[in-house]
Order: sequence, then C-alpha cells, then structure tokens
Amino acid sequence: MTTIDYPQLYIGGTWAAPAGHDTIEVHSAATEDRIGSVPRGREADIDAAVAAARTAFDAADGWASWDPKERAEVLERFAVELEARGAETARRVSMQNGMPIWLAQQFEAGFPPLLVRYYSDLMTSAPFEESRPGMLGGAALVSKQPIGVVGVIVPWNVPQGISFLKLAPALAAGCSVVLKPAEETVLDAFLMAEAAAAAGLPEGVLNIVPGGREVGAYLVEHPGVDKISFTGSTAAGRWIAEACGRLLRPVTLELGGKSAAIVLDDADLGASIEQFFGVTLLNNGQICWLNTRVLAPRSRYTEIVDTITELAHSLKVGDPLDPEVKVGPLVSKQHRERVEAYIAKGQSEGARMTTGGKRPFDRGWFLEPTIFADLDNNATVSREEIFGPVLSLIPYSDEEEAVAIANDSVYGLGGSVWSSDPERATNVARRVRSGTVGVNHYVNDPVAPFGGIKQSGMGRELGPEGLQAFQVFKTIYLPPLSDASQPPPTPL
Ligand code: NAD
Repeated sequence: MTTIDYPQLYIGGTWAAPAGHDTIEVHSAATEDRIGSVPRGREADIDAAVAAARTAFDAADGWASWDPKERAEVLERFAVELEARGAETARRVSMQNGMPIWLAQQFEAGFPPLLVRYYSDLMTSAPFEESRPGMLGGAALVSKQPIGVVGVIVPWNVPQGISFLKLAPALAAGCSVVLKPAEETVLDAFLMAEAAAAAGLPEGVLNIVPGGREVGAYLVEHPGVDKISFTGSTAAGRWIAEACGRLLRPVTLELGGKSAAIVLDDADLGASIEQFFGVTLLNNGQICWLNTRVLAPRSRYTEIVDTITELAHSLKVGDPLDPEVKVGPLVSKQHRERVEAYIAKGQSEGARMTTGGKRPFDRGWFLEPTIFADLDNNATVSREEIFGPVLSLIPYSDEEEAVAIANDSVYGLGGSVWSSDPERATNVARRVRSGTVGVNHYVNDPVAPFGGIKQSGMGRELGPEGLQAFQVFKTIYLPPLSDASQPPPTPL
C-alpha cells in the first residue's frame, strides 16, 4: 500500500517548511501498518501560524473586514472542495481511528460542508448590527464583531466533524484560526488544508499545526491568540480552563461524559434497536455523548439485559473500511489497554459480563462490545468515562430513582429517554441534568446548541449560539442628531 506522507505544514496559505525535522507517524488502527506521516509541529511553527492568523485578522482589508456575503462565497468554494475530497477524508479517518466507513461518510465527509453552509447562511441572514434609539439622548449602534484569532484544539475520535463545529462558525464570523489536530488523526487534517488551498481561502485565515499536548499548551497560552475552543478530555480541559482564566482569555470547552439512557417501563427497545445502537455503541464507543449507562426498570431488567446483550453480540466487528462492519478497532494500542483495564476493574468489582471483553483478532486494536449487568451506579465502570464499547446496565425501581441515577454523575453532556409515549419521555428528559437529551433517538442537529454542564464543559457549539461563541458585542454611542434621523446601519 502506498503511504500518505506530507513534508510540509499548511501555514499562511502556503505549504511551508516545518521548523523541525521530527515527524508524526500514523498507523492503521485495523492493521497496525504504517500508513503515513506529517511533520511534527513545534513552538516556532505555532508562532508562524499565529502570526499569519493575526495578519489575516488585523489587516485593514483582512478577512474580518469583509462583508459576510463575500466570506460566504469563499466558504461555499471551501464546502465544494471538502465535498470533492469527502470519500478520501472518510477513508483516512476510518483507517486512523477505526471509525466504521459508513459513519465516517456521514460525520467526517457529510457534516463539515453542511456546517460551513449553515453558518455562512446564518451569518448572511442574521442582522449583526442594529441601531437602538437611546434613552439618554443619541443612539447606540450595537454590533457583533468577530472575536479574533482562535486557537482550535481537537481530539481524534471525530476529527473532521468536531473541527468544523468550531471552524464553520469561526470562519463565517470573520475569525482566523490556528487548528491543532490530535496526533492520531493528522492525515485528514492535511486533506482539509488541500481543500482550503484549492478554495482560495485568503492567506492565514486557516493554519494547521499538528502536534502533541505541549504544542497545544503553547497555543493555549500564546499572546497572539484571542480565544481557545477545545474539545477533549476533562483533565486537559481543566488545565486549559485554568490557563485561560489566568490570561482572561475566552474559552469554550467540550469535555467528557458518562451519559445515561433511561429505558422506561413501556419502551419497545426491539423496535428502536438501530437508534439504541446509535446512542450506545456508535464509533466503537469513542464518542463523548454516548449513553454508556443504561438504566432499566427492575420489572423488565432481565429482558432488557438480554436485548442489549443480543445487540452487542450481533454487531459485526472488523475492518472499518468494510461497509457491513458496525464496530471497528479502537484508536490505538494504549487506548485499548486503558479500556481493557476498565473491563478488568468491572469484573473485580463484581459486575456480571454478559458478552464481550475479548480481543477478536490478532492484528489491529479490536475489542468486542462488552456489556456489564448486575451493577449499580457506584461501580467504577458506571462512574468513569471509558471511551470504548463498554456499557453498564443499571436497574432502577421507579422514574424518580431513574432520574436520580441519571443525574448522579460529575458529567452532564448527553442522555436519552426511551418510551412508547414520547410526551412522557419528554417530561422525563426535562428532568435530566444535561446539556442535551434525546427522545427515542439522539442526533446533534446543527440548528440547536450542543454542549455540557458540570465537568462536561462550558459554552455551546451548533445553532446560532455556536456562532455567538466567536463573536463579541461592541457598542458605539452615537451623538444626538440635530434632525431626528439616525444614520442607517452599515455592514462591517
Ligand atoms: P485529550 O484531552 O487527551 O486530547 C484532545 C486534544 O487536546 C489533542 O489534540 C491533544 O493533543 C490536546 N491536548 C491534550 N492536553 C492538552 C493541553 N494540556 N493543552 C492543550 N492541548 C492539549 O483527549 P483525547 O483522548 O484525544 O479525546 C478523548 C476525550 O475527548 C474524551 O474524554 C472525550 O469525551 C472527549 N470528547 C469530548 C467531546 C465533546 O464534544 N464534549 C467530543 C469528543 C471527545
């Protein structure tokens, strides 16, 4: 197989020589073979990227000064170029992190251009400047301005989809960006750079510097950065929040989760098993909002355990590039070992493993979907984020107890309620303390805000709220006019 090797970094709208000679080597999660490499970014590369982004933002005729309609024209070309590379993007992500290809086609190929168009439309249709008659004489011209140079740091699990939750609103708002992808998923990020170059994104509007946490930390604290938008673990998010607090730098944090699916006593889980798979074991368990605690009524506990065990057992595990495969490998050797340590912990704490727990193949970082029954919400596997295909099935006595268990978590990101009565389920969903909850399904619709409470994060992405995360309000106090007319609002 030919490997994918990039010798240069995308900084300032061109392919630039990296500051150092080290590379990030990328391996297939399914075969363990080496599939490519990119330069390992250093602090000097971040300096160059931030300088380019700064110039793109600060120049009098820079990206921020453009009319939103002009930006939308460039972003439409970006969406078209992303679409042209969609199949290859999905393939690269699938090879790198094990995401089943059919899912990669949706999350990684389809979602980014959709988000680019959604935010371009929003930016060109929503008023961003208004004149308010004052109460004290004069008037106030209130506008939403782009927040500035944004440092975007993303994880490996949904690398393109998550990047565009940030890039699409940031670029539409007029910000310029330095993106630091995770080391595990860099080959797709370089394809994004190719799309940006082909679309003619102005110099410095998007810069991409891959590297590890040191490079990420350097970006977080860089004096040329105005805002940080981070998705990743709660541990890293806590450090970033502290750094941004000290710097008084705005920050959006999308962090970990341990969400609950509440199966009510009238639910027909068999009828919605596809959707149930989609909220519990999607992407090999490597999604932050997955419902890894399943709360089942005692009156139907045995039956529900059997249904979910059968689901997990029936899922085809294998090569993520095979469209029939439902569960691919985990992202890395180290990550699989981490998940296996949790499985051992679950067993040592007395949980009953009804299926899974083993490595199905000799090569690749595969792990069977694993179900734990007969445990409560205090078990380690019920409390901590595992980030793999491992579910805790917890019994409850009544709705009150189900809601209490769902809310008994340091996290609050996702969740779902399952019932044959959607109104009843919606009322239960209202009581779940979480940023998002689904009824009989779960989907991150672009129109509505997504994000967490408690240790799952701060701020929101998606919806108009996701655009505001990259804007700041500015007021210009206009003087009283001798005649009553006020100047008409002018586009930025
Ligand atoms: P991670 O926190 O280790 O790494 C995420 C990114 O942050 C990587 O690019 C990494 O290089 C960088 N990074 C790590 N430490 C940093 C630091 N101190 N300063 C700056 N950058 C730093 O997370 P991961 O293991 O790659 O991803 C899995 C985690 O991400 C899980 O906890 C998962 O729940 C979370 N996640 C959250 C969401 C969400 O929307 N809430 C979505 C996907 C993943």
